[in-house]
Amino acid sequence: MELAALQLAVCLVQVVFIPHDSKKLKQRMEKPLTEDEYETGIAKFADMFVLDHLEQPFMQTRGVKGKEVSLQKFFIGLPEKASTSPFAHAFFNEVDEVEKACPSCVAIALFQQATNGVSLGGRFFTVGLKGASPVTTLIVHQNLRQRIWVNLLSEGFLAEKELYSTKPEENIPTWKIPIRIKKKTAESAHKIGLLRGLFWQPARVELRKGSDSEIVCDVCGVETAEHFVGFCQEPLPYKRDGFWRHPHSPVDVVQKSYFKFWSQVPTWANLSQFFWEKKSSDEGQAPALVITQYNKVWHDKPITISIGGYISSRENTEKIEARRHEMYSLPAGWENKLDNAERLIKLAIEVKALLRGIIYGLATDKGPGDLPALFRKPKNFNKSNTVESLTNRASELYMQSVETVVHEILRTIKWNEMETVIQDFKKRIENFAIEAFTTTMEPYNRNEKFIPKIILKQNELHHGLKQIFQ
Ligand SMILES: [Zn+2]
Repeated sequence: MELAALQLAVCLVQVVFIPHDSKKLKQRMEKPLTEDEYETGIAKFADMFVLDHLEQPFMQTRGVKGKEVSLQKFFIGLPEKASTSPFAHAFFNEVDEVEKACPSCVAIALFQQATNGVSLGGRFFTVGLKGASPVTTLIVHQNLRQRIWVNLLSEGFLAEKELYSTKPEENIPTWKIPIRIKKKTAESAHKIGLLRGLFWQPARVELRKGSDSEIVCDVCGVETAEHFVGFCQEPLPYKRDGFWRHPHSPVDVVQKSYFKFWSQVPTWANLSQFFWEKKSSDEGQAPALVITQYNKVWHDKPITISIGGYISSRENTEKIEARRHEMYSLPAGWENKLDNAERLIKLAIEVKALLRGIIYGLATDKGPGDLPALFRKPKNFNKSNTVESLTNRASELYMQSVETVVHEILRTIKWNEMETVIQDFKKRIENFAIEAFTTTMEPYNRNEKFIPKIILKQNELHHGLKQIFQ
């Protein structure tokens, strides 16, 4: 919810108070807008972002028919409650946790669902401009006001990039000029201006107001008279042509697609995607435009970014399994240190592959100390006793330990003392791999006949580690 709210605020300020150039952007970071500047700025948009506008409501369409759907459908993964609950990755325990909500929470959820969610259901409902559940990265700064400005792109930067149409008629939001749905003519991405793209609503939805005189918002707990209780939706199978570059998400520049989170891959394993540009003959990545601009405007400053998004299911990318929200910091000088960060990450991943290979071998290699039999016999077969689950257990233990160290090392890294950093990192991940092996093997160590094989594999692990680190 926090990242979604920040992104909505950034998008609103981006289109209403777009800074002329980097000088102006820096000034805005220093000094708040005056009351006059604020009033003049918003006056032009008085009618634009109104959630219950009679004819053209914010990110909706009037006159949508169909069955009313629960508001909760908009709130997938949103309330931060999950982080303190014992079900850290479960979104909701009940199907009716969000039945009524205040306009602020509903606006954030509506925006988030359209921008970073998956389709509202089936092939007749199209996803947003970034595809299903893309990763979002925004820069973090000391206070909320600066956190918004630091994520705004200046007109100068945008003109250089030439990514968005600047024609006024192509920069009108979808609730004022609907997405073209005629079968043959697709809506071209290069004709979508910044405002139209930032608030792109790929679905035909209409919120339904509640009739109670006062309610308590199911999401934030505020008491409010104005509230919403559901929405109606209609299919909108439109075609789109081309790639629209969203300023808040890192992209695969070769595939022309947005990066996603996958459940088995921790965020740090793909860290380079979020900070650095890379291009070779067959692959290429670029960070979110706000990070590219930060690199230019605040060169030689440390950086902290918030990385968030939903975790897609491998089987069905339209299905969301969990969500992720993490922060990463790098000290000053990070701009050209892609190789250093990649060295650390590569080592950690190589050790993970070694550990998985050893555990897998232990559970499948035939020979003395008949451990594989435990995993082969059908009578012992259950979910917690398969080769895969054993291998996953060990690699999860290892990856969890590495994650804390990666955060710590990156935050404090001394770029000019890389050799010491690497040596220290090697020692720590070596210990993590050994610990993960020992913990995973603990239940089998109790049986004497397995011990020789476990020792054999433990030696293989030590040997493998030496080879990786030499
Ligand atoms: Zn609320």
